[in-house]
Amino acid sequence: MNKLIILGTNSALPTSERFSSAQVLQLFERSFLIDCAEGTQMRLRQAGVSFAKIKAIFISHLHSDHFLGIFGLLSTFSMLGRKHALALYAPAGLAEILNSSQAHYLMGELQFELHIHSLPDKDCAEIYSDKKLSVHAIRLNHRIDTWGFYFTEKPSINVKKEAIVRYNLSLDEIIAVKKGNDIHRSTGEIIPNGELRAKQKPLLSYAYISDTAFFPQIALYIKGVRLLYHEATFLHNMLPRAIETFHTTARQAGEFANLAQAERLLIGHFSARYKSVEELEKEAKEIFANTTAAKDLGVYSLL
Ligand SMILES: [Zn+2]
Repeated sequence: MNKLIILGTNSALPTSERFSSAQVLQLFERSFLIDCAEGTQMRLRQAGVSFAKIKAIFISHLHSDHFLGIFGLLSTFSMLGRKHALALYAPAGLAEILNSSQAHYLMGELQFELHIHSLPDKDCAEIYSDKKLSVHAIRLNHRIDTWGFYFTEKPSINVKKEAIVRYNLSLDEIIAVKKGNDIHRSTGEIIPNGELRAKQKPLLSYAYISDTAFFPQIALYIKGVRLLYHEATFLHNMLPRAIETFHTTARQAGEFANLAQAERLLIGHFSARYKSVEELEKEAKEIFANTTAAKDLGVYSLL
């Protein structure tokens, strides 16, 4: 199943119920870890996520509640005998830290290849691409350099099964249809591509927008996103504090979801001052009805 597993929903301070930021996105048999707060290893175990299957890690910024768990996790990968390479997409500063002798002291000698990609100094740029998926990094508006991540399924053409039978399509013809071509037969018959291709299901997409001040300018990069995770650190009655710390209120998260024409909104990155997140959810819902407050170890389908 294509899904998002939330490992931590708190901002700065972890509590016994809510850990700090980390989540796993599972899309088309690929597992991506997004942010890696302290305690991520434990949460991965609790969520039953296979360590070996994590293909890449994306780190939004270098505040400790988003990356402190990386040292323990990489070290554990080694101890578990990981041999296949791991890709890490992170602000340039993390490469410096991980390549330092102090980090080697902390983690031991890694037994696998770690490919570190520094996030680009651009408003929005593609940083990852494979057959099925593309990932863009989007600049956010926080106290230090911070990026959001936008995962999108690539469109693909499938051939209708009944069309294969009806027209007795050869393998070469099926390949041609998948490339978007019409079929030209030696008899002079032309079968238009539109008659052969299956209807495209709505493409999956997921955007991770944390941490940031309310930043409406970037909504255009993720227009129509199916599932949007947006930080909602404070209630709107704490707007001055949100502005001061470059965070967003629950109401603003709802406004942003509207601007991005998102299908669903998950809010997270809650201040530890809120024992219950019900009020935050209620506030965002008043602006954007299809809102859910993320829960630690909650699993959310990408449909
Ligand atoms: Zn931060």
